[in-house]
Amino acid sequence: MKDKNKNFHYPENPKQIKFPIYARQLSGRSLFPAFTHLISAKKTRLAEKLEKRYGKGIELTSSGSAALVLALKLSGAEPGKEVIFSSFSCPNVIDAVLQSGASPVFANLDDDLSLSFEDVKNKVTERTCAVILTHVYGRKENMNLIEWAKAKRIHVIDDAAQAMFTKQAGTFAGGLGDFGILSFGMSKPLGSIGGGALIARKDVLDKISRLPMEQRKQVNADYDAYMRQQRMQALMSSKALSFLFRKAGVRTSLKTSKLEVLPKKPATVPLLRMHPVRQAIIEYQLSKMERLVKDSSRNLETARYIFAEAEELYGIKMIQPQEGESLNYLTIVFPHEGERYDCSVYLAAKGIQTCWNYLPLHLIPLYQPYSQLEDGNSPWKRVLSLPFKPPLGTEQVKYIAETVLTYAKQKNKK
Ligand SMILES: *Cc1c(COP(=O)(O)O)cnc(C)c1O
Repeated sequence: MKDKNKNFHYPENPKQIKFPIYARQLSGRSLFPAFTHLISAKKTRLAEKLEKRYGKGIELTSSGSAALVLALKLSGAEPGKEVIFSSFSCPNVIDAVLQSGASPVFANLDDDLSLSFEDVKNKVTERTCAVILTHVYGRKENMNLIEWAKAKRIHVIDDAAQAMFTKQAGTFAGGLGDFGILSFGMSKPLGSIGGGALIARKDVLDKISRLPMEQRKQVNADYDAYMRQQRMQALMSSKALSFLFRKAGVRTSLKTSKLEVLPKKPATVPLLRMHPVRQAIIEYQLSKMERLVKDSSRNLETARYIFAEAEELYGIKMIQPQEGESLNYLTIVFPHEGERYDCSVYLAAKGIQTCWNYLPLHLIPLYQPYSQLEDGNSPWKRVLSLPFKPPLGTEQVKYIAETVLTYAKQKNKK
């Protein structure tokens, strides 16, 4: 834990980001129609649209974490119970489990990054009330595990916060288990101002007493933060302006990952209903997603060819989307530890932002009490995520992938 910079964080904020890791989805102008429409219309159709998409009931919440806490409670999570999930995930998941009062139990991932059925069978006890599937990077999960859990009357929570556009067994991720979770946070597949959804059978949702509504001013604050971040990205991708920024001594402060600050205590979230204004913004964005998802997957396809060469020459593997998968990150896996730090530094100098996800939860001091020490060859020190989402086009993604190749070439010459 000592050498924080080297082990857990991508390099200090690059001074000039031309290639941000997250998509720029809403411009101020394009959002305007949503806003005018919702001032008159009190009711949006977001819940209805999602109900149709999953063929189940939907409870819209103030955050994905709130939806997860609700799902856990409905699964019987409380002190004395246990919940199994992967530690290769963001702290939101363990925080939600802790908020429910249940004890977290970590299980390994298989090579394809799905939760290991074998290891879940090793970890299950009579106290296990739920298993959370997290679709790391947007990948699919093991259907056999879901069948097994059903037979054992263990609840399956299909957390699709990272995988909203991945399809498996004829349904979008989120629709697989007893409960599904969606998140509309900035770093998620439908990157928006925040918000969440709980997916479940209607009769099950009816058991939740009506949640209090979040405050309109919270929505405004989230909207402002989102627009600030979007504007910053737009500014930073303009060379001339970023030169001025540098001269003025202003540094970009894009906090792109929770890894930048290790949590000191678990977060607890309020359990609130989503405000109609938030609904309207997300509904508007959902209508534009098909295009974004298509452009993103074309960009992944472009990178695929270049990384085929990188794999052959230097052993750098790209995580390839399988049938039905819509990846939330373009992630490469280096053969050796340490390379991702060097490569991140190299890319940062060229304005290419990178992201290291995830720092395993059992290595964060706060969550160490729940660690069961194993994970010999977990990939976490060797994975690096690269920008690939719109507004980046195929030319830019090609440049990014080729820059990684150039890095590897230089490195291997030495
Ligand atoms: C982000 C995330 C959440 C929580 O969503 P928020 O809307 O940020 O509260 C839950 N689970 C996973 C896997 C996530 O990545």
